[in-house]
Amino acid sequence: MNYQSTATQLKEVIDAIASRGWCSATGGNFSARLDLNSCLITASGVDKSRLEAEDFLVCDLNGKVNSTSKKPSAETMLHTSLYGFSADIGAVLHTHSVPATVLSTHFLNRDCLIFCGYEMQKALQGITSHEDAVTLPILDNDRNILYLAEQLKQRWQKDIFSYGFLVRGHGVYAWGKDIQEAKRHLEGIEFLLACELNKMLLEVGK
Ligand SMILES: [Zn+2]
Repeated sequence: MNYQSTATQLKEVIDAIASRGWCSATGGNFSARLDLNSCLITASGVDKSRLEAEDFLVCDLNGKVNSTSKKPSAETMLHTSLYGFSADIGAVLHTHSVPATVLSTHFLNRDCLIFCGYEMQKALQGITSHEDAVTLPILDNDRNILYLAEQLKQRWQKDIFSYGFLVRGHGVYAWGKDIQEAKRHLEGIEFLLACELNKMLLEVGK
């Protein structure tokens, strides 16, 4: 895809995501593949609800940026790692939502969340029934992004990673073959997380 149409599509999706409150205080980062070896990604520290054209950077899959005065997010390496793992990944969306943050820290001894019984599961690629068990891996957060990228690589080699994962106390990464599928996966995952959190709150209130 060319730069301009990719940037336009990605900005539309980020606007919608930001309006949901999933990237407060400049949180989150978003990317889309341009070709086999490069992607477009949001710059570090920009307000996702007020993105400008210059807030997008182009980088190669080693995270090397070919532009400008803006810096890439430290988390760029997680995006580029995913593109490197699979040529079928066309977009990666990362949010800092409240349900993702709360649930991933509440279950400190778990390395995944499992969803079952939700119609919304069918928003996820490969899930055809609400009766399927949907696994969402959790990686422990780490300020050393190289370490986190290595954890991701190791989990990728042994787990089912079809649509996304959580970083504990941090947020969601979701992806898809293109920007629209990545958006559908992100919205599905955020919906499932919100359901689980609300169920827990109802239990507390009993
Ligand atoms: Zn983040």
